[in-house]
Amino acid sequence: MAAEPGSDYAVISDVHSNLEALEAVLADIRLKMGSPEILFLGDAVGYGPNPNECVGKINEVARRAVAGNHDWAVLELTDITYFNLNARIAIEWTASVITPESRLIMEKWKLVNRVAENSLLLVHGSPSEPERWHYIITLKQAEENFRHFSEQICLIGHSHLPFIIEQLPDGGLALKKRRAAISASRFIINGGSVGQPRDGDPRASWLRLSGGKAEIMRVPYNFRRTQQKMRAAGERNLPPPLIERLEKGL
Ligand code: ZN
Repeated sequence: MAAEPGSDYAVISDVHSNLEALEAVLADIRLKMGSPEILFLGDAVGYGPNPNECVGKINEVARRAVAGNHDWAVLELTDITYFNLNARIAIEWTASVITPESRLIMEKWKLVNRVAENSLLLVHGSPSEPERWHYIITLKQAEENFRHFSEQICLIGHSHLPFIIEQLPDGGLALKKRRAAISASRFIINGGSVGQPRDGDPRASWLRLSGGKAEIMRVPYNFRRTQQKMRAAGERNLPPPLIERLEKGL
């Protein structure tokens, strides 16, 4: 990847209607990077209390975006029976409050996007079958997926688990937890979740791609405020386990 000015990216994913987390991440991006190109990897909505605000803000800041399974579920473009019960309840509530403006924005997000000049592929779940929302969590799954794209770097979200997987020129894989130099290798990178981290760290997660480096960034946010808003939406709409998990980062 070229490291000249203009090729700096901040990658955000899995915001899940969490406005406090999104604002904290955007402030951190400004502080650390100024105004890089922002890439969004899907799941603006679902789980949290501010779907319309998050869709509007993402649309304002992101140069490129793809849709996630929760976005498509709210738009009724994907089957919701495979979601767990709490996720489904939150999707149904989200669909009941989402505005026509937000729908129009989300309908423009495709399943796959690219930054051709820097050989980046953007997809929510997996490059092999983006519409089927597979997870890439293990090295074996990553190895299989490296065969399904030709770009140097595939950026993914979906699992809410940040990692950098490097495929060395000899084909071997290396797992990097936090940062990696972007050399001749190919990469599958998950920058983690802005609005519902699941790696045991409740801080919001985003990915910095700049100066020939990829780095997972974490930033604290006021999850108590998000939790208050979720309680105010009513537990039949946003069930308590979705509220409690935010403080645990699980
Ligand atoms: Zn998600």
